Amino acid sequence: MPQPYGRCQHCGERLYAHIEGGYQCLNCDSRYTETDLEDQAA
Ligand SMILES: [Zn+2]
Repeated sequence: MPQPYGRCQHCGERLYAHIEGGYQCLNCDSRYTETDLEDQAA
């Protein structure tokens, strides 16, 4: 089962699902795609 959220690569804060798809960090406003998080989890 894949992890729904990952960690921000900039500040380490938890990521939240973005309304337009992918994920976002609410702390530094970085955006990540699902593919980015899959690569990071491996
Ligand atoms: Zn961040």
